[in-house]
Amino acid sequence: MPLRLSRTPLGSLYALLLWGLGILLWLLTLVVELKSPGTLRIDLLTFFRQRDSLAAAMFLLLLVICAFLRRQSRDYAPMLAEDGIMVLVVLAFPLEVTVTLLGIAGILESVSQQTERYQRGLPLGGWPFVVGELLFQGGAAAFIGLTGSTVEQAAHHAEWHASPRFGARELATIPLIYLSIFAMRLSVSFLYLWARGVSLVAFAQEARARQSVVTFLAEFATVVLAVMIAVAYARLDFLPVIALCAVLVALVALLSKQGEAAERQQRTIAEMKILVGVGRALSNPDQTRRELLKTLYQEGRELFRADSLAVYLFPEDGAQPRALEWQSIGANPPPAERRGAARNPDCSLEQSGQWQRSSTSEHEAVRSEGDALGLAEWCAQHKRALRLGDVEREAPAYGYRWLTERLPYRSWMGVPLEAEKKTLGVISVASYQTRAFSEQDEEMLRALGQQLVGALEKARLHELATVDGLTGLLNARAARARLAEVFAKALASNMAMSVIMFDIDHFKKVNDTYGHEVGNEVLRYLATTARKKLRDTDIAGRYGGEEFIVVLPNTPASGAFDVAQRLRRSVEAHPVPTAAGELRVTASFGVAALPASEIATPEALVEAADKALYASKRGGRNRVTLASRSGQSALA
Ligand code: GH3
Ligand code: MG
Ligand code: MG
Repeated sequence: MPLRLSRTPLGSLYALLLWGLGILLWLLTLVVELKSPGTLRIDLLTFFRQRDSLAAAMFLLLLVICAFLRRQSRDYAPMLAEDGIMVLVVLAFPLEVTVTLLGIAGILESVSQQTERYQRGLPLGGWPFVVGELLFQGGAAAFIGLTGSTVEQAAHHAEWHASPRFGARELATIPLIYLSIFAMRLSVSFLYLWARGVSLVAFAQEARARQSVVTFLAEFATVVLAVMIAVAYARLDFLPVIALCAVLVALVALLSKQGEAAERQQRTIAEMKILVGVGRALSNPDQTRRELLKTLYQEGRELFRADSLAVYLFPEDGAQPRALEWQSIGANPPPAERRGAARNPDCSLEQSGQWQRSSTSEHEAVRSEGDALGLAEWCAQHKRALRLGDVEREAPAYGYRWLTERLPYRSWMGVPLEAEKKTLGVISVASYQTRAFSEQDEEMLRALGQQLVGALEKARLHELATVDGLTGLLNARAARARLAEVFAKALASNMAMSVIMFDIDHFKKVNDTYGHEVGNEVLRYLATTARKKLRDTDIAGRYGGEEFIVVLPNTPASGAFDVAQRLRRSVEAHPVPTAAGELRVTASFGVAALPASEIATPEALVEAADKALYASKRGGRNRVTLASRSGQSALA
């Protein structure tokens, strides 16, 4: 893990300074104290305990501010300050006061968390959940204080408690107190997550990702520094100590704010560039929904630094929502520890294997129950955005307890796609990191969603004009238009290109025996087969009733011939599942290619392929024929 103590170089410098200063001071005082004991002796009783209540109130305030800062920023600095103050509290107060102080701080933090959730209009999950959270957080913090105090008491002998003084021995116990607080904090977090079904391995990996030896040392150094400040100013009064701690906290606050601002500024410029690109892509009227969503997917994921972006389109008749998911194109696979999260085999992402199956080509996963569909449904039903910073902790409040087991994501955010009060669907982004999306991200997703609604309507109109309703392939007119484009390009750059025409063998028989509907099923199945077997750059269209065309840019005759053979074999090998049972069909193929001196127009190329197809039919069907140079057909 890289050394990253803060979001800005200045913040990192600050953390490193603390680190160096803290350890240096600690060593120095320890040496001085060991050489001539008594130099530093400070009467802790007069130092803190004379004005217990005022000091306690001040420390409580500082703890609450630290907790607030810690939640506000993902920076490391606030946590350093918080632990420093915690150790100070342990040293300064007797056990009961420490436990009470930290407990109250924990409860206050929980209250502020729930208030924030409430203000954002998110459900709190009922009274048991609210009270449970309060008790847990308060109890956990108190327990951390109890552990620290117990270690402190055990480390100091009995006389010390009667008249506490600060010397070498006490200095040496600081790391012990800190370690116990740290270990307890870790255990409590684990307990919290374990109750929600996170495995020990997953937790360890997450903790390791966040905490390195360097950050651990830095944290320890801050603690030491806080105590050193107390020692240095002890002779004065406790008020200067509090004031110094307050300055420390204020500095931390300032630095994290400054870090955030700097990061935001850098990101804003990058985001604007992407937004302009997305806007341009979305406003293109000549694309299908598939193409539109593909562009959106690629650009949008970058915009939100998300691991996945999905668009759920719901049917307009209000029936069961049908998710049109687009998480597949190059979606980042989950880190190893998240993969195990899916326990329900029917619903796990691993099983549906989206990133595996479709890493090479786009993949449209139409499932009645997507992995995050429940959350998308929530957005649609409540007509409001949902932003989860930690799915495991927050999703149960929405009644989605099962998410812990199936969703590999840690952050999820979705906004409904609304057009004239109708909810068309939901657009969402997800990340394997916690707290990946900010309030600004939510606003941006909302804006993107609005743009998408308009673009989807345009794309629908475009599809009506260019896509064949039965098979989903291009219709004849659109296929001819694309062919003309590819032809012109190939001619201009003297590149190869090919056309494959194919026609189902004895298709009349299928219609006559099983009916027109079953015939249609066969057509749809063959179209799907063709699309699966072809590359993204290949263009497939329905040219006539049961005749198909495939245009292959940059492909010479030999390549196209192989593609046709592959298709032919696939059609032959896989029976078509229909209402009338499984049907075996075959198809005949004709291939023609550029460069060819006698072919000057796209129509001539199609005609040559058609002739070759006819030769396949005459030759006994279920075969591929390559158009020869002389216009004669060569059988293969
Ligand atoms: P061949 O092997 O020579 O191709 O024999 P074939 O029976 O397939 O003959 P042909 O290609 O001439 O058959 C065209 C038939 O395809 C006529 C029509 O019944 C059927 N057809 C055309 N369009 C559709 C359609 O949209 N749906 C269905 N079910 N059948 C169609
Ligand atoms: Mg036919
Ligand atoms: Mg035909």
